[in-house]
Amino acid sequence: MEPYVADQLGRPLKDLRISVIDQCNFRCTYCMPAEIFGPDYAFLPEDQLLSFDEIIRLVKVFAKFGVEKIRLTGGEPLMRKNLDDLIRRIREVDGIKDIAVTTNAVFLVRQAKKLKEAGLDRVNISLDAIEDEVFQETNGRGVKIKPVLKGIEAARDAGLPIKVNMVVKKGMNESQILPMARYFKDTGDTLRFIEFMEVGNHNGWNMDAVVPKKKIIDQIHEEMPLIPLDANYYGEVASRYRYKDGEGEIGVISSVTEAFCSSCTRARLSADGQLFTCLFASSGYDLRECLRSDYSEEQITEYLIAIWTGRSDQYSIDRAKGKPMKENKIEMSYIGG
Ligand code: SAM
Ligand code: SF4
Ligand code: SF4
Repeated sequence: MEPYVADQLGRPLKDLRISVIDQCNFRCTYCMPAEIFGPDYAFLPEDQLLSFDEIIRLVKVFAKFGVEKIRLTGGEPLMRKNLDDLIRRIREVDGIKDIAVTTNAVFLVRQAKKLKEAGLDRVNISLDAIEDEVFQETNGRGVKIKPVLKGIEAARDAGLPIKVNMVVKKGMNESQILPMARYFKDTGDTLRFIEFMEVGNHNGWNMDAVVPKKKIIDQIHEEMPLIPLDANYYGEVASRYRYKDGEGEIGVISSVTEAFCSSCTRARLSADGQLFTCLFASSGYDLRECLRSDYSEEQITEYLIAIWTGRSDQYSIDRAKGKPMKENKIEMSYIGG
């Protein structure tokens, strides 16, 4: 029998996001601005990353806790060598029902088929524009749309369900809301808009740069009428809509203007094994040290119970109430989005 462990606000732990690498082939301006993450930036050396054996040991403990969903992220997770081996091994863990990867899609052309064969259930693909000039600016590396669209095509050919995620930031890509909606409407892929968040310390976040959910929906609804849908499951972060003409679905992740902390069942594990109970935490819990000090499974379980039962994070709600923001927040590329 798995222990039912709820945090201080009654939330169980259901969803674990694992960053498998902190490096990335992009430098998105809202995530890894090139002036900070330049050639001198010190990424984690390989021996500091959790090994696949270590990740699997932890996944087994989390699964006993009630975690059913694993999302592999980064950095760019497809840059981690032999990711398909990790997926194959996670697939074998009792209790894990869903494995997803969040990626910028560029390496999917080479990897989609083998990831699917290893047991991957679906992909979340990040794409912030459908016009080259905007996209090249946004990804900070001058990459054009084509390699991403090819990656999406490869995922489709491999039979992987796709969600396309677009971070919307005023002054960066709000011009792309309608073109993206038009482009993905008939593809069968779900397009999700994400409000620009103040993760990390370097992305220059302020409330004026957030395009609120209502503005996004109103704009699309005016041209292509929408009907709201119910959530698929407890804790789903996106508000869902379908087009009135029956073709296609979109979602909006309104992390800033409509906080969803009250149903937040997620924990995040960084590539070097720090566990974070909130995206906006400034420190984590060192599970790598537990693994490398030969803690038994029981000891790690006890530690996790102590961490989760002590959790009271509700950062986005606190921010909306006007509480001051923390300094030294963890970077998104490190903690995994
Ligand atoms: N490199 C992969 C990718 O881009 O899909 C995975 C890691 S990335 C950190 C995960 C997600 O975080 C992406 O969908 C990205 O758009 C999102 N993200 C990064 N910085 C963000 C920010 N400041 N506000 C909102 N979402 C952000
Ligand atoms: Fe890389 Fe993803 Fe961050 Fe863009 S959002 S810089 S692709 S980790
Ligand atoms: Fe969860 Fe923290 Fe985001 Fe709230 S702010 S939804 S607690 S990760």
